[in-house]
Amino acid sequence: RNGDERAANIPRYVRVNRTCYTTHEAVKEFISRGYELSDPIKNRKAFAKDEHIPDLLLFPPDTPFVDDPLYQSGKLILQDKASCFPAFVLDPPANEHSVVIDATAAPGNKTSHLCALMENKGKLYALERDKKRFETLKMMLSKARCKNVEPINIDFLTISPQDPTYSDVTHILLDPSCSGSGIVNRLDHLLESGAVRRSLTTSSSDEQTLMHDPPSVIEDQPEGEQELRLNKLAAFQLLMIKHAMKFPSVQRIVYSTCSVHTTENEHVVRNALRSEECSAGRFKLAPPEEVLPSWKRRGIQEELDHPSDATSIVRCSPGEDATNGFFVSLFVRDSPPRFVAH
Ligand code: SAM
Repeated sequence: RNGDERAANIPRYVRVNRTCYTTHEAVKEFISRGYELSDPIKNRKAFAKDEHIPDLLLFPPDTPFVDDPLYQSGKLILQDKASCFPAFVLDPPANEHSVVIDATAAPGNKTSHLCALMENKGKLYALERDKKRFETLKMMLSKARCKNVEPINIDFLTISPQDPTYSDVTHILLDPSCSGSGIVNRLDHLLESGAVRRSLTTSSSDEQTLMHDPPSVIEDQPEGEQELRLNKLAAFQLLMIKHAMKFPSVQRIVYSTCSVHTTENEHVVRNALRSEECSAGRFKLAPPEEVLPSWKRRGIQEELDHPSDATSIVRCSPGEDATNGFFVSLFVRDSPPRFVAH
């Protein structure tokens, strides 16, 4: 099946922004507009609640939202289902003491999701190294009414894990630049970029630069160049994970991509697990019960050192799972060995 056919089976996903709206209110509103709760792929005037992600609603694939007042006011956020997995799996605590880093934040959909899960409490550092994308991030966060977020225009790799500012960080989300090879449904990006374009008055040629990083044209490149580029991306992605593992209080690190390539997914995780940083920090993959246990499609066993690691990984196949292609893994710190008195 080609990308368009696969995209036709992907519902229009809409996340209710819990910082200022509730799913109960949203359901009431759409019923009052003539929608009914049933299958949105079969019925053009139907919507449904997602079975895995709380506060996520499904609409027919071509439902327009960009001019909807609920979207305009930040009460609804257009976000593919798979891209809701990383924040949900990271599961940041919602209290005044929680300290979280979103290390690669722009345009900010996962940041605002983290903020909602934290109930706008504690502190969420949203880092973004690209200046232009950082401006988009700030605009998106203000639209989503995020109050606990401090956006910082910085390269995560230049931050010292010993910096006292970050000494209490317990959760890190890493959704770094990837090939974007899993994206078949560009509607989110086109709709969002329309809004971004209006707000920032940038030219339409900036759409790709703003929403995709880097533009996902990897499939169009000759094989040799493709491999070279994937290897470069993988080296950078591994560096990011190893850096995150150096933060003294970090307990949970989510690593995700919207790529379908094992080079950027299982191989990066495998190399992270083999690294010195991992053994020094006593990190391991979280047990499957902590990583969307009801999701069927898991990692590719043959590409990992221990086949059982695959059960700790979530994969989404573009189109087949009614989402874009996606990959999610969760590293957790093993509790330090207990002192046993003799
Ligand atoms: N998580 C974002 C979301 O859901 O909206 C999408 C993140 S996008 C895949 C990756 C982002 O990371 C890009 O905006 C890129 O500029 C940024 N980035 C890449 N390397 C970085 C680094 N070393 N430090 C901070 N940001 C970085």
